[in-house]
Parts: sequence; C-alpha cells; structure tokens
Amino acid sequence: MGMDLVLLGPPGSGKGTQAAILSQKYRIPAISTGDVLRAQVEAGTPLGQRVKAYIDRGELVPDSLVVDLIQHRLSDPDTQQGFILDGFPRTVPQAQALDSMLAALDRPLDAVLYLQVDPQAVRERLGQRHRGDDLQGVIDHRLDVFLQQTAPLISYYQAQGKLKLIDGAQPPEAVAASIDEVIRPLAVPSFGEASFGHKPNVSQVVSDENTKENGSNA
Ligand code: ADP
Repeated sequence: MGMDLVLLGPPGSGKGTQAAILSQKYRIPAISTGDVLRAQVEAGTPLGQRVKAYIDRGELVPDSLVVDLIQHRLSDPDTQQGFILDGFPRTVPQAQALDSMLAALDRPLDAVLYLQVDPQAVRERLGQRHRGDDLQGVIDHRLDVFLQQTAPLISYYQAQGKLKLIDGAQPPEAVAASIDEVIRPLAVPSFGEASFGHKPNVSQVVSDENTKENGSNA
C-alpha cells in the first residue's frame, strides 16, 4: 500500500510546486485536475469544450465530471504505490465521493496537507503567473469560490483527523521541508511491514525532532 495524499489550499498556494516535489521524492504520481482539464481544453476534446467556459470564468466544473475523471485516473496501475491529489477534492461532495472510492479500494487517505497562505499573498502570486484564468477579476472570483466551496473541506478533514497545517507562505523549499516533517512519520514501515502504515495512531517515539525543547515528552 502506498502513500495517499491530498494537497489542499487556495489558488496560488503552491500546490502544484509541492505536488511535483513530493512526486519525485516518493515516486508516486501527482494528479492535478486543473492540468488534466486544461489538457482537454487544449486538445479541443468534447470534454475540453464543455469545461473551458467554467475555467475561463473561474467557476468549478461540475462535481460529477471531475469525480469521474479522478475515478478513472485512480484505477491506473501507477497509483498503486500512492498518489498526490492536487486540486481535488474542491467541494464537500467531491470529498465524499473520494472517500467512498478509496473505501472501496480499502486505502483511506494518509493525510491532507493544507497549504495556508493569506489571500493578499495569493493575489500577488497569481498576478505574476501568465495563465489564461489568472486575470485579476477571475483570480478574485476563484478566491471567493475557494472560500465558499473548498474551505469547508478544512473542517471536513479536521474531523477525520487527517488535516495537517503547513505554512505555505514560506519559500518553496521550506514548505517542502515542513511537509517532509509531517509525512516522514507516516512513511515509517510499521514493525517490519514493508508498507506505509495506514493506522499510524500508535504513538511513535520521535526523539530527534524535539531535542531543542526539553526532550521530556514521555
Ligand atoms: P488553481 O489552484 O490556481 O485554482 P487549478 O489548476 O487547480 O488552479 O484549477 C484551475 C481551474 O480548473 C479551476 O478554477 C476550475 O475551473 C477547474 N478545476 C480544477 N480542479 C477542479 C475540481 N476538483 N473541481 C472543479 N473544478 C476544478
């Protein structure tokens, strides 16, 4: 079994950058719904023609469409050792659909990494990008859509005990290091099993990380 991760965060929080780093490090595919949808638009497929208007306006494409897309993608053999989802789920119904997909495969998510960046910083970052939907009006709308439709996933995954907060305002390498700290304990094989533990609730003795404090955590 692999390392199954979700990257959550507002547009421009650096999900794509961190997904690429994680993908290299753990040799698992990074799956970006935005990239897949844009590729369809560029190829001029019927799906692409359908989703272009949503993307251009900064609206989310319909849940059923991205859920189908992800369901197909997760059945590809390269996801067996794990995956990183970037930009999915983005609504509560998408998260519920993902949960049931993964329950059927008996491989629940290992962690949801929430990249925290304040809205002003995000606006500045996106303003420097040159994607078709990175125009100021569309950016502002995407941020609203994030707050209304995606931000509820923070408490959704918090309730599952899966949410890990990451300071996304740091430089990319520092964000990657923060993620690493959160991920590494999950990747420790449990008692000789050559697998990533899906039940990491047994407390692990991690002595090297807290030596700067007083090391007295039993
Ligand atoms: P960003 O994180 O900067 O918004 P993405 O590439 O993740 O960039 O998304 C670009 C656009 O693709 C979104 O504004 C939306 O229209 C569409 N999209 C991507 N992922 C989803 C999703 N999970 N559900 C619905 N629409 C999506």
